[in-house]
Amino acid sequence: MLRQRTIGTLVTSSGIGVHSGKNCKISFTPAPVDTGVVFCRKDIAGNPEILANAEYVNDTQMCTAMEKDGVRVATVEHLMSALAGLGIDNIRIELDSPEVPIMDGSSAPFVYLLQQAGIVEQDAAKRFICVNQEIEIREGDKFAKLLPFDACRFDFTIFFNHPVLRRGSNFFRLDFSSLRYVREIARARTFGFLRDIEFLQSNNLGLGGGLDNAVVVDDYRILNEQGLRFPDEFVRHKLLDAVGDLYMLGAPLLGWYQGYKSGHDLNNKLCRKLLAERDKWSYKQLDTINSSISYGAE
Ligand SMILES: [Zn+2]
Repeated sequence: MLRQRTIGTLVTSSGIGVHSGKNCKISFTPAPVDTGVVFCRKDIAGNPEILANAEYVNDTQMCTAMEKDGVRVATVEHLMSALAGLGIDNIRIELDSPEVPIMDGSSAPFVYLLQQAGIVEQDAAKRFICVNQEIEIREGDKFAKLLPFDACRFDFTIFFNHPVLRRGSNFFRLDFSSLRYVREIARARTFGFLRDIEFLQSNNLGLGGGLDNAVVVDDYRILNEQGLRFPDEFVRHKLLDAVGDLYMLGAPLLGWYQGYKSGHDLNNKLCRKLLAERDKWSYKQLDTINSSISYGAE
């Protein structure tokens, strides 16, 4: 069977929060089987904890933020994506600020850090959420859906009427394995429009955002001197986001995700709908030999 995973040892990093512009120290420690992904605010008395779960997501405007009993942890999406990508089930993440550092705007720095910690198999079966019936959230022409599928597949399509964003492919498919995630998805950075960033910063938001942690485009071109990491970096990043958003289900996915112009909000609604419609999914374990999903990236 495929086993649950945690990390081998404590690792620590730091970086700025993209919205607060403030420095945050973040440390990762191993956690026992069936813990899940637990965030802990070290800067608050009593060190309150929040379990990563779609039901605690209360803000999807600028990032994915969770809140429970008045305690908030924001910008969790790229870190959740890295954890999903490496198949880490159980981990404790301590922060001294309300916001996970943005790092370079991708999940690659988290992947690297977690690989440095070593990934350790644990003495319990990994539990997948197996989609048994189609489920969909649709708003206007946007949709996010899950279909039954005997593996884990993510399809994403973007559509932007912009000369730069139209250039690369607007579709990406990830037939999930850790190796493919690390090679094809993890390095794709978030992106933003210069006018939106200027507007945000004039309203005291996005204070840590800039060319070090996002691909920034104006009306005609990419402003980052080094250009893109992939010709289709934009759609790959949207897929990276979807992988992280879906990991808020609290277990890895056995199913086929399809996103069309979707984002954190639609993805979260999809997770909530699936969790609420208990007859449409079941927990499943997978044999190592015949598994359609591989976590052998490290
Ligand atoms: Zn993102």
